[in-house]
Amino acid sequence: MFNEERHFDQPIRWAMVGGGRGSQIGYSHRNAAQRDGLFKLVAGAFDLDPERCRDFGINLGLDGDRCYANYKEMFEQEAQREDGIQAVSIATPNSTHYEICKAALEANLHVVCEKPITFTTEEAEELKAIAAKNNRVIGVMYGYSGFPMVQQAREMVKRGDLGEIRVINMQFAHGFHNEEYELNDPGLKWRVSPEVSGPTYVLGDIGTHAFYLCEVMTGLEVDRLSCMRQSFIKSRTPLEDNAHVMMEFKGGAVGTLWASAVNAGSMHQQKIRIVGSKASIEWWDEQPNQLRYEIQGEPPRILDRGMGYLYQDVEGVAANRVGGGHAEGYFESWANLYHRFALAFDAADRDDQETLAGIWFPGIDAGIEGVRLCEKCVESADQNAAWVEYK
Ligand code: NAD
Repeated sequence: MFNEERHFDQPIRWAMVGGGRGSQIGYSHRNAAQRDGLFKLVAGAFDLDPERCRDFGINLGLDGDRCYANYKEMFEQEAQREDGIQAVSIATPNSTHYEICKAALEANLHVVCEKPITFTTEEAEELKAIAAKNNRVIGVMYGYSGFPMVQQAREMVKRGDLGEIRVINMQFAHGFHNEEYELNDPGLKWRVSPEVSGPTYVLGDIGTHAFYLCEVMTGLEVDRLSCMRQSFIKSRTPLEDNAHVMMEFKGGAVGTLWASAVNAGSMHQQKIRIVGSKASIEWWDEQPNQLRYEIQGEPPRILDRGMGYLYQDVEGVAANRVGGGHAEGYFESWANLYHRFALAFDAADRDDQETLAGIWFPGIDAGIEGVRLCEKCVESADQNAAWVEYK
């Protein structure tokens, strides 16, 4: 069972870029980062509008002098202070991630960045190189990967409970954007604008989450893929509001990914089913405390978080914050990830590379693969769903 005893002498002094008033994801970062007392929010460039940023920051309890008009000013001014920031989370629209991440790493800060981390794999590789040179850590906010039952699934695959992995079906297919809601929703408007969203809409926005679950649970690498994408709301073209991807993995497994924002009537429908030669598992983010386990020839089982029959010797599985039966959810998954980011940042600061290497978290490599998925899907879709090599 998780408890909050692990502390640093002082919490990591932490700031945010983006995530301001009315943003979709800002509160999730603040809630998760500060849950275990390992981070303390001390500064921010939360908003494009400096006045609103200051007002918002003061309402969060920050010193008004540490609510900045933009990230450049924040990195410069904070570097002058003895108690300046040590880490920053970036929760701005996609087009800004690369330049803000780069500036943060060059200012010697650890970074948590939203996905997709950049528009191109070259940019993401460049960030990786700067981080390595400066001994900084990049965490990428694949927020669903912190669920204990996701970690249980990973262990089951690793320990051979499913046999040889044959088929992986992934989907993140919601129905929230089945009409042209972007006309009145700025958060959707930028998502369907290539100059801000990047080369994809649903593939990068939600497909990368399901794809990362596959990476985490199976560790398999894609060999080649074929993608068909389209927009049912025509004004979203050239970006897609629906996509289907077929994949062949190294080693012989095959899979599909369905990413959609027009799955009318659905909430998230983020599901992953992994089929092995002996058994299958299935996980759904709307019932994250359960993992379905089906052994061929036996009645299906539902495994529940917090129970002794799970692989409790694995830290990620044992990370339940309340006993089984009490529902845990999205915020706990995020907090589990921020907890790990904090331990990773601390290990890097102490130059304890061995500890750092032993901490599992979605890092820059996960970020790079998400960007690669988008690039390769576009390459395939542009050639009428031709099969393209993944690397
Ligand atoms: P949003 O449009 O709701 O909010 C963006 C916020 O960033 C606003 O407060 C805006 O004022 C601010 N902002 C924009 N440009 C800025 C800049 N240059 N400097 C400082 N502040 C700036 O967007 P959102 O839905 O919160 O998405 C933000 C990012 O988070 C996106 O990359 C998105 O893909 C990602 N996201 C991730 C998840 C997840 O589950 N990990 C969920 C939702 C969104």
